[in-house]
Amino acid sequence: MSRHSIVIVGEGGVGKSCLTLQFVHGKFAESYDPTVEDSYRKQVTVDKKQAMLDICDTAGQEMYAAYQDQYYKSGNGFIIVYNVTDRMTFERIKSYRDRIIRAKNSEEIDAKTKKAMGLEPDQDIIPPMVVVGNKIDLDNSRQVSTQEGQNMSKELGIPFFEASAKTNVNVTESFIELVRQIRKTGGVLWV
Ligand code: GDP
Ligand code: MG
Repeated sequence: MSRHSIVIVGEGGVGKSCLTLQFVHGKFAESYDPTVEDSYRKQVTVDKKQAMLDICDTAGQEMYAAYQDQYYKSGNGFIIVYNVTDRMTFERIKSYRDRIIRAKNSEEIDAKTKKAMGLEPDQDIIPPMVVVGNKIDLDNSRQVSTQEGQNMSKELGIPFFEASAKTNVNVTESFIELVRQIRKTGGVLWV
């Protein structure tokens, strides 16, 4: 069975831990220690094929680059989360994406690897990613519209879901889409 390492990123409080716990355990935890960083394992069947997911829920120190880059390097796929009721978290999406791309294109990925992937030496590898706009159950406090989310998704070329960890909307779907994205890369990298 193939194994994929998935890293959940995004600003503090957007619901990374709740999305992870909803996906792994099918529960919504009203409060979860924001400083706890945890990893989980879950087996899934996607398109009739099984996969083992190692999920890393990053926490705290969201903006300490050196620290995060280790996670970014170890991930096969990434879920970038924002909170639809907090515009600032939406505005951070692009910088998370850029950091992931930079980490993945660091020194150890050499020209030979890129060539094997059909890329030119100066072309960036874009790792599998999905963007999730969480907390859509809080519709009255919305600050980011669905349309804005879709525009961002189109601009960045990353699949996008609006979700609620609380009411369990599009949680599994987001992880499944990421598995599909990971499979598309053929598992060439980051085993
Ligand atoms: P993290 O810092 O990104 O891991 O965020 P948490 O998962 O700890 O969630 C932060 C807060 O948002 C907690 O109080 C959660 O109960 C709440 N929360 C998370 N997801 C949702 C959601 O989908 N809907 C609502 N209403 N609250 C949520
Ligand atoms: Mg957390």
